[in-house]
Amino acid sequence: MEQLLDSFGREHDYLRISVTDRCNLRCVYCMPAEGVVFQPHDEIMSYEEIAETVSALAPMGLRKLRITGGEPLVRKDLDKLIAMLSGIPGIEDIAMTTNGMFLAGKAAALKQAGLNRVNISLDSLRQDRFAMITRGGEVRRVLEGLQAAVEFGFDPIKLNVVLMKGVNDDEIRDFIALTLDKPLHVRFIEYMPIGSATDSWRSTYLPLSTVDEVCREAGWETEDVAGPRGNGPAESKRVVGAAGTFGLIHPVSEHFCDNCNRLRLTADGHIKACLYWSDELHVRPLAAAGDREGIRAMFLKALGGKPKNHEMALALEKKQQSHTPTVRRMSQIGG
Ligand code: SAM
Ligand code: SF4
Repeated sequence: MEQLLDSFGREHDYLRISVTDRCNLRCVYCMPAEGVVFQPHDEIMSYEEIAETVSALAPMGLRKLRITGGEPLVRKDLDKLIAMLSGIPGIEDIAMTTNGMFLAGKAAALKQAGLNRVNISLDSLRQDRFAMITRGGEVRRVLEGLQAAVEFGFDPIKLNVVLMKGVNDDEIRDFIALTLDKPLHVRFIEYMPIGSATDSWRSTYLPLSTVDEVCREAGWETEDVAGPRGNGPAESKRVVGAAGTFGLIHPVSEHFCDNCNRLRLTADGHIKACLYWSDELHVRPLAAAGDREGIRAMFLKALGGKPKNHEMALALEKKQQSHTPTVRRMSQIGG
């Protein structure tokens, strides 16, 4: 069967599935203060439609899935979807990105259903700051979620930290210190201008070269390491002798598009071949009709139009870009 290749020969074996655009938090870099209008429930893909889409793509080389949102754990009975997806022949790895607030109570059922890995987003270890960034999050609950992820054997466990100048860059050292004696993988992520290339983004954006400077100042010798499983575009390092690693994801300053293997499915059933651009195709009606040939053809069409690069760096300098950036916010795409 035809494989998931784009016009630049990039193989796509990875689908990020947003299961909801809703969230219990309102992170400053992800949602505007006034919130976004959530999609009505009847416009959101059902679990059956998601499973139908994945079943259509598995014979084309799809191997890895990531469940995301919005906050995936606000969707009811997520373990049922995980069980449906993990039973599809060819699917080898299912991961989830979560803010961790509801993870402690759900980790056991998710693991049992076949979820392999979790990425937990945590941008500050200080409660007052975390509450400000997330507009209401509690560090304690995220750490309980992290603890449950360890207990139930998710492996590897990654912590996603979006770095923002003047907001949490003074905690880089504290986050790396977490990896010294725990087998955690901290991933520092550049702040991306998704749906919001504003001046406030430009002034808060921080290139990740800062992390190397912090290690030098702390007197930590670091070494490059092979990243943990599913590491995608992260550059991985370790403080010599540490139990865990840290990774740098530079989507803006050093775009990683050459090796992009990702496709995205939004909660309302649109295919996005590139995170950043506005181009989308609505696959949900085909999934609802069980039309697997139609689903495959639509994904190939989306891949045919996938651009070579995302060009986010041009937004920093307010330069002309070759396509139109999406107006969706990150919570509406899935990160
Ligand atoms: N709610 C879940 C969470 O926060 O982990 C999953 C969805 S969230 C959109 C997925 C990831 O995108 C999170 O790690 C979040 O920190 C990251 N993210 C959101 N907006 C971002 C932005 N503008 N730049 C970089 N990362 C962003
Ligand atoms: Fe919610 Fe995740 Fe966006 Fe924060 S980053 S508002 S937790 S979807």
